[in-house]
Amino acid sequence: MVNPMEEYDTIIIGAGPAGLTAAIYSSREGQKTLLLDKAVPGGQIYLSSIVENYPGVKSTSGAALISTMVGQATSFGTKIKQFEEVKEANLKEKIIKTDRGEYKSKSIIIATGNRWRKLNVPGEEELLGKGVSYCATCDGPFFKNQEVAVIGGGDSAIEEGLHLTKFANKVYIIHRRNELRASKRLQDLAFSNPKIEFIWNSEVSSINGNANVESITLKNNNSNEETSLALSGAFIFIGMLPNSEIFKGQLETDPRGYILTGEWMQTKIPGVYAAGDVRHSPLKQVTTATSDGTVSAVSASRGQF
Ligand code: NAP
Repeated sequence: MVNPMEEYDTIIIGAGPAGLTAAIYSSREGQKTLLLDKAVPGGQIYLSSIVENYPGVKSTSGAALISTMVGQATSFGTKIKQFEEVKEANLKEKIIKTDRGEYKSKSIIIATGNRWRKLNVPGEEELLGKGVSYCATCDGPFFKNQEVAVIGGGDSAIEEGLHLTKFANKVYIIHRRNELRASKRLQDLAFSNPKIEFIWNSEVSSINGNANVESITLKNNNSNEETSLALSGAFIFIGMLPNSEIFKGQLETDPRGYILTGEWMQTKIPGVYAAGDVRHSPLKQVTTATSDGTVSAVSASRGQF
């Protein structure tokens, strides 16, 4: 016998801070709400061992913060289905197909986040959160008076490298070419900063350490020579990728694939909203994600746009 399609008022895809906040607001508004995640709730913040910039909470871990949000969402009635990956989304018809079922909804909130582009070198995954980081704003304060490296030559690498000079003694910026992609303004700031040293024409071949990062191995792209650099942090900023591929062709995005929304988080399809890091926005922080989640859920429950 074929199971009938489960029906909801709001389906939220992605259970990071944006999706969980949308779930709290949506179910509190009395909407029958389903929250889907391909893994467990959490998103990127789940991996942060200390979060100290979430207002109202002096210091916590990403996992503890998420666990509280999950408790809030379920207490208001959100149904969470984890380890359920969306395989197809017909946004106009509001039909979602996952690897386990098919759902219909009146509105859809896309909160699938983005992901760091990886170097894909030995040690990167093993030492994540132990010196390997993709967020200087989150982790910079842990590297006071230490030596760190930033990998990349774009705006993010230079901007984050400059930010790290507030904490670290020395910031190496390692770039695979001999000129930066970053804007002239940022380049000028970096070249005149005495704490920054550039290492040109070099790529990281491994990140090394036992409990924590102790060094990186570099390969010079001209000479192929390998050298080792002792340091305690490796910040990787070689671009990010939005998790918007399954919606491709249905929504307007910027050239990088981030979904374009209005100020109520509405997309060009009525009843479809985007919130958090998958959305084109000037800043990606937990607090901006929760703000987007709030706005999207209120928009969806009011049925506007
Ligand atoms: P990006 O502009 O794509 O730069 C990525 C950098 O990483 C490039 O320098 C690239 O080298 C390098 N790279 C890529 N893959 C690599 C690999 N496998 N190994 C080593 N290096 C690698 O990314 P982004 O800096 O994150 O910026 C993304 C967008 O956001 C850009 O449009 C940027 O202008 C914008 N943004 C703006 C600001 C601002 O205006 N304040 C701040 C942050 C970001 P190559 O140069 O050799 O390709």
